[in-house]
Amino acid sequence: MDKVLSISVGEIALKKGNRKYFEDKLISKMKRALQDLYYEKIYKEQGKIYVEASENGFEQIISRLKKVFGIVYISPCIRVTKNIDEIKDAVINIMKYSQLRNPVKTFKVKTNRVDKKFPIKSPEVSRQMGAVILKNIKDLKVDVNNPEMYVFIDIKQNVYVYTERIKGYGGLPIGTNGKGLLLLSGGIDSPVAGFLMAKRGIEISAIHFHSYPFTSERAEEKVKNLAKTLSLYTGKMKLYSINILDIQKELNKKCPEDEMTILSRRFMMKIAEKIALDNDIDALITGESLGQVASQTMKGITVTNASVNMPILRPLIGLDKVQIIDIAKDIETYEQSILPYDDCCTLFLPKHPVTKPKLKDIEKSEQNVDVEILVEKAINGSIIYDIE
Ligand code: ATP
Ligand code: MG
Repeated sequence: MDKVLSISVGEIALKKGNRKYFEDKLISKMKRALQDLYYEKIYKEQGKIYVEASENGFEQIISRLKKVFGIVYISPCIRVTKNIDEIKDAVINIMKYSQLRNPVKTFKVKTNRVDKKFPIKSPEVSRQMGAVILKNIKDLKVDVNNPEMYVFIDIKQNVYVYTERIKGYGGLPIGTNGKGLLLLSGGIDSPVAGFLMAKRGIEISAIHFHSYPFTSERAEEKVKNLAKTLSLYTGKMKLYSINILDIQKELNKKCPEDEMTILSRRFMMKIAEKIALDNDIDALITGESLGQVASQTMKGITVTNASVNMPILRPLIGLDKVQIIDIAKDIETYEQSILPYDDCCTLFLPKHPVTKPKLKDIEKSEQNVDVEILVEKAINGSIIYDIE
């Protein structure tokens, strides 16, 4: 009677011909997440992935695997052979344990007979095992409609018995959907945006803009820490740090004040696009949400978009602030994000920023400065951090 962890893969299961590719990618990400922990092996068996490890290590392994995208459920299982007495023992064993930890009054057995050569059909296995539980454990009833808990039995090459289904984030393994460059500020939204796109399989790098010495070193530290928290989900990433003070000064001198925000956002996009192109990255990612602030109006977004050719992914576009905060709390970036810091965007902040900018006007203002040289200079001065 061995203890193992079973991993349900959810959406990957829909990938038919590509399934092996997604599974292998997921396994490599799991190995990465567990690289400094002890386990015996990771193997596939008929639709699920299993981790063989000592039970003492389960808790830590589970907490790491919960952050690996592509995993829908993690279940501590008892693994036995396809021998009915062994299955009975496993069922009694796991039920006793479960009643100790989290006692219930009703249960239901659910059997999945993947190995059709197994002589007893699923409903009959469930019935027999239900009877075994009733006989061996006091004060329990079967409730087929609304049980307080399930006992799952998967009959495959081996038989797996489990009661718990610990939720992962689902999504797709990182690296199965190209690369993205996240515009990471020190705020609440952008880390959430990075998390959501990484969850769809995008490998993330990050870029941060600051106006040192007008913005502090502490603000820089804060962004590095946010990137570090994010990297618990995304894996190690590069963080490009770019000083845009010269650009802001130049814009302040030569362009209308009310266009400052939108003009500097267009510069951010251009710089990000150039770095992305140089690093084989396919898309930019921002934490914009429609209507949240002056620059995030439909017209503002249109004018921002027009500054680059690369797609800009905005996973928060339709979310309310409350929803974004909920995710930020869940992924533990919220507490870091609300620490006070100085943002480059607040420098030269116009009193009345344009909310309905016209592309023609903005492009005209941009002609007052040498865009290419400013972009080039900012990139030449960049610092790159390796975040792990
Ligand atoms: P956030 O909470 O992510 O800071 P926000 O609500 O403050 O967003 P804006 O300041 O308009 O909104 O920024 C919108 C998006 O632009 C951010 O989510 C981020 O992706 C990008 N961005 C803004 N400022 C910076 C910066 N200093 N460095 C990198 N990206 C930035
Ligand atoms: Mg911000």
